[in-house]
Amino acid sequence: GDDLELGIHPSVDIVFPPSLLREELTDLAADVRILSDGSALAGLDGVVTFSFEEAFLSADLEWIHCILAGVDAFPFEALKRRGITLSNSSGVHGDAIGDTVLGYMLQFARRLHIYRDNEPTREWYYPDWDETFTLPGETVCVVGLGTLGQGVTARADAVGMNVRGVRRTPTPVPSVDAVFTPDSLTAAISDARFVALTVPLTSQTEGLIGSDELDAMREDAYLLNVARGGVVDQDALVAALTDGRIAGAALDVFETEPLPDDSPLWDLENVIVTPHAAGATDEYAERVAAIVAENVRRIRRGESLANHVV
Ligand code: NAD
Repeated sequence: GDDLELGIHPSVDIVFPPSLLREELTDLAADVRILSDGSALAGLDGVVTFSFEEAFLSADLEWIHCILAGVDAFPFEALKRRGITLSNSSGVHGDAIGDTVLGYMLQFARRLHIYRDNEPTREWYYPDWDETFTLPGETVCVVGLGTLGQGVTARADAVGMNVRGVRRTPTPVPSVDAVFTPDSLTAAISDARFVALTVPLTSQTEGLIGSDELDAMREDAYLLNVARGGVVDQDALVAALTDGRIAGAALDVFETEPLPDDSPLWDLENVIVTPHAAGATDEYAERVAAIVAENVRRIRRGESLANHVV
């Protein structure tokens, strides 16, 4: 018939079983098939994928949907030239990332990571009197106030933290007490106990946090990066952590992933490493399916796509 032909790329399996997504899409006016080979794209109108493949450019695709919010690995210009529309999954990760970032802050404040570290040696360690703190009254600065950022600010506000944020347009955002623009980044982060990064990786945000910004942060401050590794100068971060110029970091994303065995970040007690899993949730497939289904309806009506990137 004139149903859309959709393929689910095998790379989706990194996040959830492709069959789950197909089940969620059964009521759709589209033929959805799971691809066993990422380059077998003949006859498809669209593909749902985790990663980018060169073969996408030479196939006759109309549309690519990425199950990630961050599509920095996709070649925007080449897609434009081929007339292929790209949509992303921004909007699905606010709860999962918000919970994870709140968890990072609680771990550091309550030292939970230290006690877990001590379990293998059966160490009954009581913290120094000034080692622990509580979140109410502490300040978090959230850089990037989209889905992720607002997932963080809502939770931080709910536990009684002072919440500030950085966005390009200085208009008010729910749960944020003070909004700064990127040109006042240093002022925004300089007296925060936590700095959370929730921006996309773009030419403007690459290396956003380097040694100057790390020096501007408090010595008892923690950097939380759930955005992309490239937003932080990782060597500068390792140096700041090693020299005690900041108190610690929770990192979900890295310049190279998986984080190489020989990275010093693995060994630092004041660093929490999570494996690009801050956004993982059992609701992931369902939430992506809602965007895919909406875009299938829009394609059929000739409308522009939700979460349209290029
Ligand atoms: P989003 O589009 O909803 O929000 C991004 C926000 O950042 C937007 O409000 C945008 O205006 C703002 N922004 C862009 N450039 C900026 C700058 N220079 N300064 C300040 N703000 C700027 O996207 P999202 O769903 O919140 O995701 C954000 C990014 O987080 C993604 O692009 C992705 O790289 C990353 N991410 C990581 C995970 C993970 O598993 N760790 C999961 C989802 C998203």
